[in-house]
Amino acid sequence: MSEKALTLVIQGTPISPGLAQGIIHVHRSLLGPIDVAVAIEQDNVKEEFTRLDTATARISEDLFALATRVEKEIDSRLAEVFGAHQLMLNDASLREELRNEIVGNLVNASSAVKTVFLRWENRFLLMESQIARDKGDDMRDISRRLRHALAGITTHPLEKIPDGCVLATSRLLPSDTVFLAGRSVSAVLLEYGSTGSHAALFAREMGLPCISGFHDLMTTVPDGALALVEADTGIVTIRPREKQKVIFRKKVDDKEHEYQLARAHATSPAVTRDAVTISVLANVGCSDDTEKAMLNGAEGVGLYRLEQAYLGRVIPPDTDELVAEMHHTLEAVRGCPVYVRLLDIGSDKSLPFTGFLAETNPSLGRRGIRFLREYPELLKTQLRAVLELAGEFDVRILVPMVTLPDDVSVVREQLIQLCSRLRISSPPKLGAMIETPAAALAAQEIVKYADFLSFGTNDLTQFVFAADRENAAVERYYRDSADVIFRLLRLTHDDVPEVPLSLCGELAGRPEHISRLLECGIRTFSVAAPLIPVIKETIRNSWCSAPANRTH
Ligand code: PEP
Ligand code: MG
Repeated sequence: MSEKALTLVIQGTPISPGLAQGIIHVHRSLLGPIDVAVAIEQDNVKEEFTRLDTATARISEDLFALATRVEKEIDSRLAEVFGAHQLMLNDASLREELRNEIVGNLVNASSAVKTVFLRWENRFLLMESQIARDKGDDMRDISRRLRHALAGITTHPLEKIPDGCVLATSRLLPSDTVFLAGRSVSAVLLEYGSTGSHAALFAREMGLPCISGFHDLMTTVPDGALALVEADTGIVTIRPREKQKVIFRKKVDDKEHEYQLARAHATSPAVTRDAVTISVLANVGCSDDTEKAMLNGAEGVGLYRLEQAYLGRVIPPDTDELVAEMHHTLEAVRGCPVYVRLLDIGSDKSLPFTGFLAETNPSLGRRGIRFLREYPELLKTQLRAVLELAGEFDVRILVPMVTLPDDVSVVREQLIQLCSRLRISSPPKLGAMIETPAAALAAQEIVKYADFLSFGTNDLTQFVFAADRENAAVERYYRDSADVIFRLLRLTHDDVPEVPLSLCGELAGRPEHISRLLECGIRTFSVAAPLIPVIKETIRNSWCSAPANRTH
């Protein structure tokens, strides 16, 4: 067979950018079931209850340790996933159902776990929304952990994968991702996994190149072959020819060189070629994020996601607790502007203390400001906390998921009332997140109550295209850099030309779109910490004015 015939080029959907090469390791048994279903006698029921309790306690401890480690080493939002698993595992109704299964059908604990979790997984899979279906993955993950613990297995199947390989697998569960930390693998290829999935989130935070959507990956990809992975474009070249290797190596060198140049100037301001200074801020969720952001040249925080302070808690934090948490997160950015986004809960993020909000379409239901209007105490606590911080930090407030002008006016009223009660003469600036087409088209009304606008293009895109941002099945409809999005940004700018506009969605972190965003009037960008140097450098090479208006 000729060398040419052996080369295989496959194309998937990029979910985390980067270039990498390595030997393909096909991993087929990530979800391998352990078949240990055993019938028991009535006399053994107590013993099985004890085994189940011991395994649950052990897994609960593991999940706690995992959440702590992940938060420290990887990503605060991924840590929330393990916190949520811990809550699910200790859910009283689930534990009751497991016990009933053991005593009712006289089966051992492992068999009960398998049956009950499968039942729950199927319930979630039958639900309409992708978010609910993702919970099916979570159930499968916890079930596997419990059955491993009951069988005395302590190692994870991914602990043994060869260093530096290109991992090819069907899908990644949240706990799988932890074993890929520290760049033990060079890239990941998946059959399933959308850009909004846990796997995508993890891969992006780690800078791990990842491509998904290879539907027959497990049968087509050769184990042990060399692969060149271009996750920026979604192309994988398997068994490359010498010439392809040389071209690839040059691409890697060029990219590294570009990054080093950008890093060297990271702390200098980002001034465009037509002398406009642009703010480049960071999206953060915890203190680790802010520290990383400052090292990378962030000029402040453009989006402080408060969800971390609430998720995984049985009761919501009071003002003092919230102030302490925010203080800790913002210590590294003292003196810089900080945009605190009010709790954006609902949809994919539910809170234990609010009960189960059953909605057939949660993305279109009670989330963000809609949710806070229903729970005004939650809103007040956050406003009080921000006002308390305002003495020490340069804080501003962002209202999430605004649709109607009165979504902002109610917050403005609350803020004014609190300020007068606390004798604060100048309240912090208040801004609206523009994440729905209705908000973009009503900017003139909204700015009667808002001092600035911040585009959340992740959500804006899902509502413009009616495509769930987490659902791989409609990924081709989710186009956050399509002309219609830029048209909406431009239109908003033309409607309110004097109002400061920022952008904190993923689109802000993609260098190829910076110039067009500047032309749409965006003057503040907020991105994940690792992207700051490159975005700043891109701005320095861009213009704010459209080509026809440039004077030199
Ligand atoms: C957005 O929607 O673009 C955004 C920044 O908010 P989040 O991703 O937290 O929904
Ligand atoms: Mg959003």
